[in-house]
Amino acid sequence: MRKNIAAGNWKMNLDLASGKKLASEVINMVNDEVQNDAEVILIPPFTHLTVVKQLIGSSTSVHLGAQNCSDQKGGAFTGEISTEMLQSVGVEYVVVGHSERREIFGEDNALLAAKTKAVLAQGLKPIYCCGEKLETREANQHFDLNKAQIEEGLFDLSKADIQKVVIAYEPVWAIGTGVTASSDQAQEMHQFIRGLIAEKYDQETADGISILYGGSVKPDNAKELFSQPDVDGGLVGGASLKSRDFTDIIKSF
Ligand code: 13P
Repeated sequence: MRKNIAAGNWKMNLDLASGKKLASEVINMVNDEVQNDAEVILIPPFTHLTVVKQLIGSSTSVHLGAQNCSDQKGGAFTGEISTEMLQSVGVEYVVVGHSERREIFGEDNALLAAKTKAVLAQGLKPIYCCGEKLETREANQHFDLNKAQIEEGLFDLSKADIQKVVIAYEPVWAIGTGVTASSDQAQEMHQFIRGLIAEKYDQETADGISILYGGSVKPDNAKELFSQPDVDGGLVGGASLKSRDFTDIIKSF
């Protein structure tokens, strides 16, 4: 059956010393306190990956993720980071298509499809993000929008490849705002997304894919969100910067 996952996206926060402190605290708390089998993914900025990997060591429950990658294999692409580089420092997961990449950096579904393929070609696992803005939900077009993001970003993949993808539904209106989607709203969209995968591939494939919710996940709402049948965990921003809060979220499965 599919995995429960708690992923902490640090975004562009914390210098190296603060990142080391946070990672050590989370790893220790997970070792001491977490009884469930949730997979924990720490997703620090690129500059901190090597150090966080060293701290993770041989832990079987804590894994390393990157926030972005290039769709190109290598060469004259100043400022970019390839999936090969990420793999060489111990990264297992790569976030693709976070709404901040889509909105601020203009990444579109075609580019994100190419990035997803680059991640998979390197033997890594994409965490592919989708999610609508408030105006789209208010216009009642949120299902169509998420469908297009999923179809155009993922549905060129083979069945073997889509089985390695983690999906994160992050409604933009809930990110960093303190406004969480209700557990019903999250469940409704997750169920819809799983249905799309079942239609395109098959039910078994759809049932095997972890779909995470992201957007103001906090210790006091995580349990309710994670108890929904199609919500398999969270992609956590702000609360992942506090070891106590993030650990409490991990304990909410
Ligand atoms: P917040 O948890 O800060 O709302 O951020 C969510 C997010 O964007 C995680 O990728």
